[in-house]
Amino acid sequence: MNFYILTLFPEMVMNGLSTSITGRAIESGKLHIEAINIRDYTQDKHNHVDDYPYGGGAGMVMQAQPVYDAYTALVEKLGRKPWVIYMTPQGRTFNQGIAQELSEKEDIVLLCGHYEGIDERVLEMIVDDYMSIGDFVLTGGELPAMAIVDAVSRLVPGVLNNEDSAEIETFYNNLLEYPQYTRPPEFMGKKVPDVLLSGNHKLINEWRLEQSITRTKEHRPDMYEKYMIENPPKEKKKRRK
Ligand code: SAM
Repeated sequence: MNFYILTLFPEMVMNGLSTSITGRAIESGKLHIEAINIRDYTQDKHNHVDDYPYGGGAGMVMQAQPVYDAYTALVEKLGRKPWVIYMTPQGRTFNQGIAQELSEKEDIVLLCGHYEGIDERVLEMIVDDYMSIGDFVLTGGELPAMAIVDAVSRLVPGVLNNEDSAEIETFYNNLLEYPQYTRPPEFMGKKVPDVLLSGNHKLINEWRLEQSITRTKEHRPDMYEKYMIENPPKEKKKRRK
């Protein structure tokens, strides 16, 4: 899977993503992540990529030309059209379902704005989707882009060591994950629940499901409601007289 991040701060993105699991996936060739510096495409003699907003107002706006040229150079190099996402607080809110959807694409471009954002005209010309990572405003699209690359990458086959671990996690099946424990069996007087040491996998699975349901009901009633709609309690069979 290929990610192309159009940004004014390529080193920020690459430093973050070349470590840990995404870093290993890049090395093993499971992922290709490339940060493209929008500034390399400016035609301004002072290397500027932004200007004052028409109509006045605070801040600066990224100009259309360098963004458009960075994008078209990429399309020419690839020889095919990638899926282009503009990172913006005005977009639909990213979630695990969208991560799953995106993990099926081959080439994804994440366009990062800065300052007051990007000239609307180029967005209309190249963007397929507008994505936010939550209802707050950051200084740039780099952290949102990194969050999306991370979340999508771990769904790409071969990126995680254990294929199962993405399947039974929080948000899978509208449930939060059950509590996890590791050695030692007792820490400062607090013991690991006995069932987890029992070796009885049927009981362990039942306990985990119960914990997941309780947590979800407590912390995410919105998810719990969806879970209950999809998994209504089974009616007890009436006894025949
Ligand atoms: N003036 C813009 C507005 O009100 O919609 C906000 C611009 S913000 C200061 C600069 C850039 O950060 C945006 O162009 C976008 O790329 C990125 N950004 C900020 N918050 C974001 C969020 N919650 N999700 C995704 N991208 C975000």
